[in-house]
Amino acid sequence: MPASANAPTNVPLRLDTEVRMLKGVGPQRAELLAQRGIRTLLDLLNYLPFRYEDRIRFSQIKEVQPGNVYTLRAKVLSGQAIRGMYGGRDAIYHLLVQDDTGSLPCKFFHGGYLENRLKPGQSLILHGKVEADKLRPARREMVNPHMEILSTEELDSTEVGRIVPIYEAIGTFGSRQIRSAMYAAVQLLPHDLPDILPTTLRAKLQLPSRRDALIQTHFPPPDADTEALNTFRSPAQQRLIFDELFGYQLSIALERQATRRANAIPFRVREDGIRAALKKVLPFKPTAAQKRALAEIAADLEKPFPMNRLLQGDVGSGKTIVALQAAVIAIENGTQAALMAPTEILAVQHFLGARRLLGPAGYQVELLISGMKFTEKSAALERLRTGASQLAVGTHALIEDQVHFARLGFVAIDEQHRFGVLQRKRLMDKAAAHGHAPHVLVLTATPIPRTLSLTLYGDLDVSILNELPPGRTPIVTRLTTPQHLPGVWESVRREVAAGQQAYIVYPVIEESKRALKAAIDEFEHLSREVFPKLKLGLLHGRLSSDEKEDVMQRFRKNEINILVATTVVEVGVDVPNATAMIIEHADRFGLSQLHQLRGRIGRGAKKSHCILVAPPRTTEIAAARLDTMVRTNDGFEIAETDLLLRGPGDFFGTRQSGDMGFHIANPLRDKELLEVARREAFALAEDPAQKPTLQQILRALPPDWQRRYHLAKVG
Ligand code: ADP
Ligand code: MG
Repeated sequence: MPASANAPTNVPLRLDTEVRMLKGVGPQRAELLAQRGIRTLLDLLNYLPFRYEDRIRFSQIKEVQPGNVYTLRAKVLSGQAIRGMYGGRDAIYHLLVQDDTGSLPCKFFHGGYLENRLKPGQSLILHGKVEADKLRPARREMVNPHMEILSTEELDSTEVGRIVPIYEAIGTFGSRQIRSAMYAAVQLLPHDLPDILPTTLRAKLQLPSRRDALIQTHFPPPDADTEALNTFRSPAQQRLIFDELFGYQLSIALERQATRRANAIPFRVREDGIRAALKKVLPFKPTAAQKRALAEIAADLEKPFPMNRLLQGDVGSGKTIVALQAAVIAIENGTQAALMAPTEILAVQHFLGARRLLGPAGYQVELLISGMKFTEKSAALERLRTGASQLAVGTHALIEDQVHFARLGFVAIDEQHRFGVLQRKRLMDKAAAHGHAPHVLVLTATPIPRTLSLTLYGDLDVSILNELPPGRTPIVTRLTTPQHLPGVWESVRREVAAGQQAYIVYPVIEESKRALKAAIDEFEHLSREVFPKLKLGLLHGRLSSDEKEDVMQRFRKNEINILVATTVVEVGVDVPNATAMIIEHADRFGLSQLHQLRGRIGRGAKKSHCILVAPPRTTEIAAARLDTMVRTNDGFEIAETDLLLRGPGDFFGTRQSGDMGFHIANPLRDKELLEVARREAFALAEDPAQKPTLQQILRALPPDWQRRYHLAKVG
């Protein structure tokens, strides 16, 4: 292999050395690793084991009991692939292994690939759960174990006789090979690896050095506690976790300082004229929570630096009107306001609502979405540029280059989790042209437990709407099976006969033609066979803006009784006359998605029903989601459960967890460390006497951390 020309030396490598220089990584593997974003030694070192096996003391075959997990060292006796009807791919590989104390059958589903790889006499490490054979309960077997073939009897110290790190395979680059590359990498770690924590802090928290932490996380010392390692509680892992949380909190603290230093237009909010203007646009008596939130917002708006506030409230809690009131304050102070929504349907709905409320007061409102006619759009742009219009409502069309404001003073972003940090920033930049930053309010219906809001939105102040407007009857949620659909349709007919409306939702996992067909077919079936006398509408993502708007318009006016839809109705749609929500294949939706969908009903005084239709047998996780939906309407409880079921990465979508840049930290699991990290980071950033230390830390940050800091700056 040509790579050996670059044979490793024993000279410590720099962290930015390319991985292909390492022993055991040649160009092909370097290519594989690059696809995972692993290019340098540092990237590789950040690829951490997800599990550890104690291979100092192996279990003996004679002692294994069904229901437990074991690590065995054994030899191959025999092996055979049994193929199913479809040939190679669904073969089950049956393997018989033996140690000094007995023999044990193992079974690998999809194990056809093992056929020519295993030979009698070979030494293996097997790690997995032992189960009782279904047909012969006295017989034990190991099912789908993690397996490593030991290359020679002259064993490398990385493979046995120690606590061994297990890595997730990267393509054909298996755990064992990654381990050996990692071993080489760790040997070459520079002795003067920069330590990003101040020495005093490290001493106070009794954490190991960064260098030791990296080495011991990959290759734990023999006296390490395997259980602590497997729960990420070893001192070495805690140190790496702390670094990530500390760095992230530091970036938030610095970002917050920068915001405080930026100029914003301080608004007058306590004057009678403004009070009167606010009253004029308010169509109902605000809830106590809405009043409190508006007071908190108003206090921010008075300050000469930008507001940066998150308005959290369950679906239907009335966030929109609070945002519009803040917009009115901005407008009354001679500036413009913008409201950005994640979908066209929602943008149009906000636009109609804003025009209805603000129009009579003499304010001019513009809609900006991508599907607009050119002439209409240019006219709207012109009115925003000259200041003739005071409020712009739209989708990300608002952040296009051609959009200019005369004097933008306030920005609201609805359902902010749908936008990236950069999009928020681009909208804010629309005000920068006139030398100030806008006040920013972000609205979200995804209630986030405190630990996570600290992690994710640590730079935002938070207002909470913990109260629904009066006169709402709680939604009744029921779970049923497809077999009972006729009864479900009957209940929809009754609802419509009483003058109400209904949604029937189908999953579209990706908006491909085939997936869409399901919703379209169902729509036709429902129109013809099930509800021939009713008016049905169809809404999905592939319709043009005009078509979507037309359907929504007719649904709003009750010209459509039943709206058959994909998840495009998930976010924010507000038609209070709709009282039934039927979700087919409910097992295929995420928990927060289900909660959002259900939030489309229960918006008026009439009793509302949500019916979840799912097959009687689903996965355990799907069943847990459906149970939660039936049990509670509380968005906070649902978010907590969602988080537990999915883990934080999934919860926020890959983009956002990627933004956080965590390799090992998990804000949920590492709550206590997060609190400490936040306290220490803020103390450091805010203490002028610590400035030199802070600068030293910032200089010592490795490149991927620098990227994170850049991200924090744009946030
Ligand atoms: P969300 O917080 O989910 O965005 P919306 O702002 O869409 O909620 O409000 C939900 C519904 O409640 C709307 O129809 C809105 O007009 C109505 N609403 C909001 N606040 C009040 C209130 N204080 N009293 C009565 N109805 C209200
Ligand atoms: Mg909303």
